[in-house]
Amino acid sequence: MRRFFYDPGVQEIEEEILITGPEAHHIRNVLRMQVGHHAELFDGNGAVVSAEITRISAKEVVFQVLSRQDASNAGVPLTLAQAVLKGKKMDLLVQKATELGVHTFVPVLTRYCEKSSRAGQQLERWQRIMLEACKQCRRPIPMQICAPLALHELPLPEEGHRIMPWENEAGTPFSALDLGNGQPVLVLIGPEGGFHPAEVGYAEEVGFSTVSLGPRILRAETAALAAVVLAQQGVGNLSLLS
Ligand code: SAH
Repeated sequence: MRRFFYDPGVQEIEEEILITGPEAHHIRNVLRMQVGHHAELFDGNGAVVSAEITRISAKEVVFQVLSRQDASNAGVPLTLAQAVLKGKKMDLLVQKATELGVHTFVPVLTRYCEKSSRAGQQLERWQRIMLEACKQCRRPIPMQICAPLALHELPLPEEGHRIMPWENEAGTPFSALDLGNGQPVLVLIGPEGGFHPAEVGYAEEVGFSTVSLGPRILRAETAALAAVVLAQQGVGNLSLLS
């Protein structure tokens, strides 16, 4: 079944959902869907609508609602704060983090990270990649992606686990953490060049625990995905069914 996102405020009138713009173009001209075809529509807040195409015009595709379901945002929220990486690596990470159920993705600017002059465009691009990944992996509630912010601006919720995988940590492996108390998790991963010692100092000061992901130095994107899997497993998010 094909899946599409729509904006409920603008595009939903009684039991009809109007899809316009690039998504309508995709349905009509790329997928060549026809009146009578069915699809699943996501409103981005957890509503999943089963619907049938009733009209197709040059500007819009109209769906008739057949049934509705509400997907709840189950599980413990995991935030991945990732120092901005070069080019395609960030794209890959956004896609994989979406698939692995990361709740919020925060691009972080650190001393050694990639500095882009096109932050606004990047954000839009990550948003598109994330929505495509949601459709592919059947994730009804999109991952929140924040605008890039400096490390010291990273919001630190009062409750929850703050974890910083660090290649120089010799004491605590990630797997030794007990994340099973239902509290949210924030994981902070450095850029290709790693964290500056002052950044490690700052993170420890504000309550991050440094942990090891093993004896090898991983590429940042490998470290991020390994940490996400371990955190999701630790809080029980990978044991939720459907
Ligand atoms: N500065 C390092 C590499 C940084 S790796 C160097 O060039 O030698 C990029 C990021 O991945 C790090 O900031 C850290 O968050 C994470 N990372 C990589 N390997 C890790 C490991 N073995 N344990 C924990 N974190 C690791």
